Amino acid sequence: MTTLDDLPIRDDLRGLTPYGAPQLDVPVRLNVNENAYRVPEAVALDIVQEIARALPDANRYPDREFDALRRAFADYLGHGLEPEQLWAGNGSNEVLQHVLQAFGGPGRSLLSFTPTYSMYPLLAQGVGMRWVPVPRGAGFTITPDAVRAAIAEHDPDVVFLCSPNNPTGTAIDLEVVEAAAEAARGIVLVDEAYAEFAHDRSQTALSLLERHPRLLVSRTMSKAFAFAGIRVGYLAAHPAVIDALRLVRLPYHLSAITQAAAVAALRHSDEMLSRVDELRTQRDRIVEELTALGFQPYPSDANFVLVGGVADPQATFRALLDRGILVRDVGLPHTLRITAGTRAETSAVLAALADLGAE
Ligand SMILES: *Cc1c(COP(=O)(O)O)cnc(C)c1O
Repeated sequence: MTTLDDLPIRDDLRGLTPYGAPQLDVPVRLNVNENAYRVPEAVALDIVQEIARALPDANRYPDREFDALRRAFADYLGHGLEPEQLWAGNGSNEVLQHVLQAFGGPGRSLLSFTPTYSMYPLLAQGVGMRWVPVPRGAGFTITPDAVRAAIAEHDPDVVFLCSPNNPTGTAIDLEVVEAAAEAARGIVLVDEAYAEFAHDRSQTALSLLERHPRLLVSRTMSKAFAFAGIRVGYLAAHPAVIDALRLVRLPYHLSAITQAAAVAALRHSDEMLSRVDELRTQRDRIVEELTALGFQPYPSDANFVLVGGVADPQATFRALLDRGILVRDVGLPHTLRITAGTRAETSAVLAALADLGAE
């Protein structure tokens, strides 16, 4: 029988394991930072109608330039953005891949500040780039000086700054982004997948785009928009950057169904985002109540909390799973990452942790 090891796979892929957060059918799923709320029924109906309108033309390839969708993203983001500054893909992971295909590749390097999103090294690997992890400072923060020093030392071709950061929840100051944009000779991308959950939503790198043509800001509909299942991510940058991404995307990469669904959803951005405030409340409640229980949750601007002070994360992970609650062990000592759920889901995980106890 043929196994992976018998195949003539690329040498640099030999022995690697794919990304794979468990997908288990349990009552309380708080492990991959999904939006706990379903797509509102009225919005779902409008999306279905938009898809129904698009479907008879499915014999033709979709609009390669997804003009209507780029206009809708520009309007949603504001900051004076124009459609020619917008890009989209099947999830922001695909957008990040486009960025690395265009600006990275063999012989080039991707620098980021760890712990951070576990997909970055895999995306770098996929395009044959060197991955340069630079450890964060105390409390997982990054300072402008630390950014300047890391860029001076490693001279990366691409820098990814995740803010708010997964898996720590840490937001970075715009001064840090500016320091990176000024110091780097290459591309600086701020991954704002969780921007809508921030305490201060005005702290977005979108406000810096005008002054920095090599600065890119990526977003996703997966989290705040409750659209993880549809796969839509996007990016804002200088129009010349968008021209570069056109060189590497597959033809017609966004299906007519995806485009129709996203355009319709963006018409209802208020309803789509209506539960974000409730999720922020539950996020803050996790921090507050777990602190009182003797855990050490890190401050979070995302829809999840990295919780420190867990004596044996693997044992706690299993004990929670036994109670039908799935959280994430991200491999950081004495921590577990917990996504903010509905009020009831959050109550369930908090009650279970109160029962299990801190360190
Ligand atoms: C969830 C997440 C994304 C979004 O991924 P999609 O491909 O858009 O679903 C991007 N970046 C980070 C840091 C994330 O946590």
